[in-house]
Amino acid sequence: MVIIPHVNPDGDAIGSALGLNDVLNHAGFESSVVVPNDFPLYLNWLGSDGIPLIYEQNSEQCHKLIDQADALFFLDFNDVKRLGKLEDYLSSNTKPVVLIDHHPDPQIKADFMFSDTNVSSTAELVYDFIDAMDLLDHLVVSGANAILTGIIADTGSFSHNASRPDMYRIVGELIKRGADKERINESLYNNFSEKRMRLLGYCLSEKMEIYPQYRTAMIWLSAEELKRFDFHPGDTEGFVNYPLSVKGVVFSAFFMEKHDYVKISFRSKGSFATNDFSGVHFNGGGHRNASGGETKLKMEEALSLFRALLPEYSERLEKDC
Ligand code: 5GP
Ligand code: MN
Repeated sequence: MVIIPHVNPDGDAIGSALGLNDVLNHAGFESSVVVPNDFPLYLNWLGSDGIPLIYEQNSEQCHKLIDQADALFFLDFNDVKRLGKLEDYLSSNTKPVVLIDHHPDPQIKADFMFSDTNVSSTAELVYDFIDAMDLLDHLVVSGANAILTGIIADTGSFSHNASRPDMYRIVGELIKRGADKERINESLYNNFSEKRMRLLGYCLSEKMEIYPQYRTAMIWLSAEELKRFDFHPGDTEGFVNYPLSVKGVVFSAFFMEKHDYVKISFRSKGSFATNDFSGVHFNGGGHRNASGGETKLKMEEALSLFRALLPEYSERLEKDC
């Protein structure tokens, strides 16, 4: 089997994929994880040498594994666009696909679909899947650490999407199996380079714009700025959340200049649907309060578009939070 999470994988994508992989391998299946592109260094400890494989760096080996697989698992995404460069290769796929995901409106043709938007994370669903397949005996400390990383990453250490009592039962089971909550928190939140810390400071003091009338804030970074601060994947993870801690701000956007496009992250508090906003204007999607998108516009044009859209949404932004 080959397990594939979404492009620009985060803690839930990597955690759920490696957790499932670990259990399947311990249960005697042959399984591997292929991620579309590079992932943050701080998630490295959950894998081992060559696990997961990175498609953009090792496409031939990935093609071989996929060609030999009996089934593919798609984890933590609801649209094939999120396969990154793998989308093309998999467009002619005829193997059975199992989708495990917690995003709304899955657009993926899957033979088996475990999709639930009420759960905290795909990692939580992976636990349920392992349970339903009667494979819990094969969930050992390595798998438990990976799954708990997914849950902690997607809930911001149990601060959002974390109201379902069942999630805490699962967390308890993972801790019983040796998952190390402190180490996971350290690796996710206290494990950055000095440059990343300074980049965050720079963003907050120099690059954050607040539009109080629209209860909106945004931050943007050019490719030159990212280079100046020695950017590595994962360094800007969470930056988009900071403006939401300013009193009154309910909508936050973070723009980052990539090689030939601009990547955007959106977050909100309360009822404002960032996934609708990013779907309509920035070719994206995700959850109501956490979504993303991208555009081929130049940075300045993308920012102008964003600013120009705010008046249209002012009523929705004025609602409760
Ligand atoms: P982040 O802002 O951390 O990159 O992504 C937050 C969430 O938004 C992800 O879990 C994913 O659901 C969604 N997301 C991010 N980027 C995209 C995108 O380009 N397209 C879609 N459809 N969803 C995205
Ligand atoms: Mn997720």
